[in-house]
Amino acid sequence: MARTSRQDTPDQARQDQGRSRRKTAEAAQQNRTARQHLRLEAQVYTEEADCFRCGTPVDQNIEGTTHPWGPVVAHPRPLWAGGNPLDRANTRLAHRRCKTAYCEQLRAAQAAGTRAVN
Ligand SMILES: [Zn+2]
Repeated sequence: MARTSRQDTPDQARQDQGRSRRKTAEAAQQNRTARQHLRLEAQVYTEEADCFRCGTPVDQNIEGTTHPWGPVVAHPRPLWAGGNPLDRANTRLAHRRCKTAYCEQLRAAQAAGTRAVN
C-alpha cells in the first residue's frame, strides 16, 4: 500500500477553517432553536392546564415518557405538515395518548388524501 502524505496547502487549510466555522454557526443556531423550543415548552406547561384535544385537565405530575395520560407538548399542525415548532399557537399541552391518537389520525388522513390524488 502506497503511503501518501496529505499536504495542507494554504487553500486547503482555509477551506477546512471555513467548514468548521460553518459547523460552529450551524451548531449555534441549533442551540438557539433548542433553547427557544425549551422555553416555549416551559411556557406551555405553565400557561396551559387542559389537553388541546380532549379538553380535560392534564396531570403534569405524571413523570416519565410512557404514561398514556402523561403530559406532552404537541403541535396541532405537525412539523411534517409544515407546522412551526417555535410558534406558540402551534405548541399546545396534550395527554400523551391524545397526541398519539391525533398524529395517527392526521397521518391516516394524509395517506388517504395521497391515495385519492393518485
Ligand atoms: Zn387529552
